[in-house]
Amino acid sequence: MSSFRLDCTSCSSSEQGPEAIAAYKCTHCGTDLSFSPSGTRPLQDLSGRRLRAPWRYADMLPVKILGGQPAATDEVRRSALLEKMLGVQSVWLVDATGLATGTFKDYEAIVIMAMAAELNLDFVSVHSTGNTVLAYRHYAEELGVRCAIIVPAANMSKLDGLPDLTDWPVVAVDGPYKQFSAIARSVAAERGWHHLAPLPWKLEGKAALAWMIYENCPQVDLIVQTIAGGFGPLGMELGFRRLAAVGEFYGVASRRRYLLLQPSDADGIARAWRKGSSRIEPCDIPLPELPFEPTLQSANPNTTLPHLRRNLPRGTRIGSVSESLVAKHYPTAHRAFLEADIPVSYEREKSAYIALAGLLEARLEPTSNVAVIVTGSRPFRAPR
Ligand SMILES: [Zn+2]
Repeated sequence: MSSFRLDCTSCSSSEQGPEAIAAYKCTHCGTDLSFSPSGTRPLQDLSGRRLRAPWRYADMLPVKILGGQPAATDEVRRSALLEKMLGVQSVWLVDATGLATGTFKDYEAIVIMAMAAELNLDFVSVHSTGNTVLAYRHYAEELGVRCAIIVPAANMSKLDGLPDLTDWPVVAVDGPYKQFSAIARSVAAERGWHHLAPLPWKLEGKAALAWMIYENCPQVDLIVQTIAGGFGPLGMELGFRRLAAVGEFYGVASRRRYLLLQPSDADGIARAWRKGSSRIEPCDIPLPELPFEPTLQSANPNTTLPHLRRNLPRGTRIGSVSESLVAKHYPTAHRAFLEADIPVSYEREKSAYIALAGLLEARLEPTSNVAVIVTGSRPFRAPR
């Protein structure tokens, strides 16, 4: 198992079995494992590498390459229109819509399924309230990992008729959202599935976004993303910390801050952030019947809030964006995506439009260099 290069920094044990690797926790003392990239400056010369993210940055990841390309594109494009509208030096659009299931969750899913394949985990399961499970299912099939996906019964319609198969079952569970995670885990335990995706593994794949920004737009000082639970920026922070660990720490890596946005009917984290509180009270978790953007409803944002407080750089802002602001900036956003040749569909998912509405309302220094994560709008068709 040493191929994973995951060690315990607490008891210095490097002998970790498959269970420990999958849980990202030391077999001997239970501490979170840590990964040290081998060699120094593994991102120094990427020009000869034809692989796309995340495997393009394989030296920065604890898992070996097992195939399963996230397909299509992971392009970064400049937007002259947004630069003009905002009066800033540069605006980059980091496009995740061309990935196999059309969202940045593809990076998380491919890394976790590669890990499961490499460990020969026999039957795994994952749970999610949103579109993340579509990505998991896609890469589980592609890498030949038998995998159950567990979703709340109320969210089944988000799966676009994904077929329920013997090796890739779809399990709907009933119960309140805040108990969903516990219910999913007990269903997995009952059926003998290896339940996957503890926080550290979820962040590994998303770290690729940081390396893409580092490689393509090293002068960026503001990263903009629409968030539900906030795993995206936590993953990017892991990526930037790892860059620092290998001595690649200039430009974006040292100056970065975030502008994170939530739709105003799912803005529990934004409200708690503004109040300076470290817990989101139930009254600040709206869970409306007809959410403006259903994929941005986070069942329990309290799990990520302490991590966001601890890890996000100073100067980070988390704001709410109302439906009317999204409507106001829709024409500009639409034109910006069109000009950048990013095929977003507002009807399909509004995350990218929420991000641009929040950005267009922000006051920025003329010297600003901005990267916007564009995700979640490409139509996805269930396999078979
Ligand atoms: Zn240990």
